[in-house]
Amino acid sequence: MQSFTFDQPASRVIFGVDAFDRLADEVRRLGAKRALVLSTPEQLKDAEEAARRLGDLAAGIYPRAVMHVPIETAREARETARRLDADCCVAIGGGSTIGLGKAIALESGLAIIAVPTTYAGSEMTPIYGLTEDGIKKTGRDRKVLPKTVIYDPALTLTLPARIAGPSGMNAIAHCVEGLYAMDGNPIISLFAAEGIRALARSLPIVVASPGDLDARAEALYGAWLAGTVLGAVSIGIHHKLCHTLGGTFNLPHAEVHTVILPHAVEFNSKAAPEAMRITAEALGAESAARGLFDLAVRIGAPVALKDIGMPLDGLERAAELSTQNPYANPRPVEYAGVLELLRNAYEGRRPA
Ligand code: NAD
Repeated sequence: MQSFTFDQPASRVIFGVDAFDRLADEVRRLGAKRALVLSTPEQLKDAEEAARRLGDLAAGIYPRAVMHVPIETAREARETARRLDADCCVAIGGGSTIGLGKAIALESGLAIIAVPTTYAGSEMTPIYGLTEDGIKKTGRDRKVLPKTVIYDPALTLTLPARIAGPSGMNAIAHCVEGLYAMDGNPIISLFAAEGIRALARSLPIVVASPGDLDARAEALYGAWLAGTVLGAVSIGIHHKLCHTLGGTFNLPHAEVHTVILPHAVEFNSKAAPEAMRITAEALGAESAARGLFDLAVRIGAPVALKDIGMPLDGLERAAELSTQNPYANPRPVEYAGVLELLRNAYEGRRPA
């Protein structure tokens, strides 16, 4: 067996239908008395429900989280936390809302209680991002890792299929890259394989029968495992491409992950055969790349960059940008191979 370091920053996790009922107890458990509740404008109702459950423990609501944490939003939210004398943040929502909580924690050290309602996985990572002048900078700091995570599948019942599908594929991408990460380890590989299995099993049901609470729970469980993988090991060509495409061409986050994943996996397939074998087995498919493509089709998620706003004349620039300072990856990342990958993804070709 390979030698490895397992250095997993731990959060306390409360998982299950009605786990949301424990919110006030969990705030008290941290010794906090004035929680600032964060959400997107679309999830104001969830934030209001959180504040209602918190009663006197709620200091206020900041419902203006948006994708990629613009620095102006982070400043306004930090100022709100100061003005209200908040001593913790309750972030209820997806990666955008939890990302805003991290921006506050980075500066102030306030504890975050995350209540994730998508499958993005940010709640399990010490990774933060801030966007200034159109450029997103990311970093790692254990200060931003939520102290407590409340996973309540009932809160995901409202997640529409068009968001749930790509969000689940985003989570699978964390798992797949964890399997071939240069600093991977056998424990994280167990999380990754189980995460792929849980998500591949549940996502088609979530999309076809949105009210199926068991499937929602299994998908959220898979997302938890996937977030843990993302937080523990490094990422490769797939995430690099998604960050480049999202940042430079302003493409939607989870959809880019969905489209790129089968092609990034195909790109790495010969260089990481064991990761491919585990992925294919967890998907119940004969090939990892085709299995991921077919899963995306089955759940009605996008499979072509041209369908999610990518300009054809941007492919070469994207290939250039993503081969500059590449992340560690099993196969060397060179321009010609990446351009071919992007062309296949642009057209939405099923991997050969
Ligand atoms: P999101 O948080 O932007 O949510 C998408 C939309 O879905 C929002 O309008 C949100 O309010 C809505 N929504 C969320 N849950 C809902 C529910 N249950 N019912 C109805 N609507 C709901 O999307 P996301 O994909 O979760 O997060 C994307 C962002 O997170 C990106 O900025 C990405 O870079 C970041 N991210 C960060 C990490 C990390 O480790 N730091 C990990 C993954 C993603």
